[in-house]
Parts: sequence; C-alpha cells; structure tokens
Amino acid sequence: KLYNQIQDLKGNIRVYCRVRPFLHSQMSNMSTLGRIDDQNITIFSPLKTGKDARRNFTFNKVFGPSATQEEVFSDTQPLIRSVLDGYNVCIFAYGQTGSGKTHTMSGPKELNEKTLGVNYRALNDLFCLSEQRKETFTYEISVQMVEIYNEQVRDLLNDGLNKRLEIRNCSNKGLSVPDANLVPVRSIEEVIEIMNLGQRNRAVACTSMNDHSSRSHSCLTIHVQGKELTSGYALRGCMHLVDLAGSERVDKSEVKGERLKEAQYINKSLSALGDVIASLARKNAHVPYRNSKLTQLLQDSLGGQAKTLMFVHISPEVDALGETLSTLKFAERVA
Ligand code: ADP
Ligand code: MG
Repeated sequence: KLYNQIQDLKGNIRVYCRVRPFLHSQMSNMSTLGRIDDQNITIFSPLKTGKDARRNFTFNKVFGPSATQEEVFSDTQPLIRSVLDGYNVCIFAYGQTGSGKTHTMSGPKELNEKTLGVNYRALNDLFCLSEQRKETFTYEISVQMVEIYNEQVRDLLNDGLNKRLEIRNCSNKGLSVPDANLVPVRSIEEVIEIMNLGQRNRAVACTSMNDHSSRSHSCLTIHVQGKELTSGYALRGCMHLVDLAGSERVDKSEVKGERLKEAQYINKSLSALGDVIASLARKNAHVPYRNSKLTQLLQDSLGGQAKTLMFVHISPEVDALGETLSTLKFAERVA
C-alpha cells in the first residue's frame, strides 16, 4: 500500500475534473449532476432508469461549480514549482466549447486578482519563487505562444506573420518550435501585455473570434533557464499551458467543406493526444507521438520525467449530457 502511495505521489499524470456553474440565463433545475465529492462525480441521465441512470467517474480531484480560481490553482501549484527544478510540465484544458476551458486557463473577460486563470498565476508564482531563490540561483523566464489550426502551427507573438512554423524536436535549446518568437518576461505586467498581444493576433486571422478559438489549440509555453550561482550548474525546464479546441463532435451530415475539415483535424489531434497520454499511463513501450502536430509539439514534455495535468471541463446542463459523458469517458481513459 505504501508503495502505491509513493507511486501515486510521484505519478506523472493527473486528471482533474471541473464543473462549470450554471450561467445567469440558465435554469438550475435542469442539471445532470448527481453527487460530487473530492474525487468522484456521478452523472445523472434523466431519460434512463435504474442502474443506467447513474454513472460514477473517479479522478485525482473534482472541482464543483463553486470552486474558485484560487482553489483550482492551489492544487496545480506544486507542478509549477517543479519547472524551476528543471522538470517539463504540460497542463491541458479539455472539454466541449462553453464548458470553461478558457476560464480555467486565462480567466473571464473581466480580469481581476480573483478571476485570473492558471496561466497568469503560474507565471506569477515562477517570478515569486525565483525571487526567493535569488541568493542561490539565477533564473531567466521567457514565453512563446503558438496556435495549431488545421494541423498548422502559427506564431501568436509575431504580428503580421502568417507563415507556418516547423516543429523540430532536435533543438538543443529545448525549443520545439525554434522559429516562434521567444519573449523574455520579468513581471506579471509584461506577461499580461504579451498575452493580450497573443489574443489580438489570434483574432486577426478570422471573422469570429469565438468560433476560431474553439477550433484551434492555443499553447503558451514558459521556458525557464536556471543557474546555480556557486557551482555554475545549469538547468532548464519548460511548461506548456494548452487551451485545447472544443471536443464536441460535429454531425458529419450537417457540416461540409471548411467546417468538416476543421472538425476532422480537431478530432484527429484530440484522439492522438488521448492515445499518447493513455499509452504513457499504461507505460507502453511505444508512444504514438507522430500522429498529430499537437503531440509532436509537446513530445519532449509528455512522458519520461515530465509531468502532465489534464483539466477536463464539463457543463452542468441536461442539453450537454451526451458531450459530458463523452468528455468523462475520454478522461477516464487517460487517468
Ligand atoms: P470554453 O473556453 O470551454 O469554450 P469558456 O471558458 O469561454 O468556455 O466559458 C464559457 C462561459 O462560461 C464564459 O462566459 C465563462 O466566463 C463562463 N464560465 C466558465 N467557467 C466558469 C466558472 N468556473 N465560473 C464562472 N463562470 C464560468
Ligand atoms: Mg475557449
């Protein structure tokens, strides 16, 4: 049992589930949620009876609708700290469009100290900790921001540049997209500026920002280089914070052309991600990284010593039941 606990503590893949609260316009009596506790969530299907009406899922942690941004972050914090010790980390937000992925990673439109998402808190934490260690270590922190849309990688921190970027895993600097702009940051104010630039560039290419952001993966990568002052020992860690494209399945009979192509690319990359994480969780010898741009981009930070956290998001409404169950099944497979 102790061995299991140690394994669990050292476990490199964690899955957290977050349930969005009802939004203003929605009625709260139409919920699919049964019981929620610290690690379990029961989904209630009102159209089924008996044993089929309830289904239980277990995760490392379940955040109910009233969980605050601060609570969600405090469980994420140890992972972020390990970047300063030279680990690679990936944090994903998975879920159907509207389930709260961007809320968790960035926050709502009105940002204040309380509503800041994981991205900002993570960087802020890195600044604070590196400051605390300054007697023994010097750290340099820089960020990249790219998006993957229809299996093409685009730099979000380089205005006016629509060129496709290559993924190169051989880079000895630990950069999987060496041609994407790498911006040094020293304060949370600089980070906010950079992220706003990324958001603006993301919107430039498209007519409807909401649509576009739900059909592309955006990835903020934080690179940390550290040096121990006395010994000169150098280390490098990086963290990818990924707001994934919406996981909803589209009805192939209803969409055509561009929309169908997008849907197929999203489907392919999310299942490739699921396959990679599931094979890591099972400690398979072969991990199928090559099947999508997303998994190629993150290859050095998935598996090995790297740590992975998947936030799966679900909506509480009865309308969303089908997607909710498919999201939870995806998560169960990688957990
Ligand atoms: P997604 O990125 O998955 O499409 P969003 O993060 O944009 O979803 O969330 C949809 C809406 O729900 C937004 O208006 C967002 O602010 C709100 N929302 C999501 N999660 C929460 C939450 N935990 N608390 C309050 N509002 C939330
Ligand atoms: Mg979003």
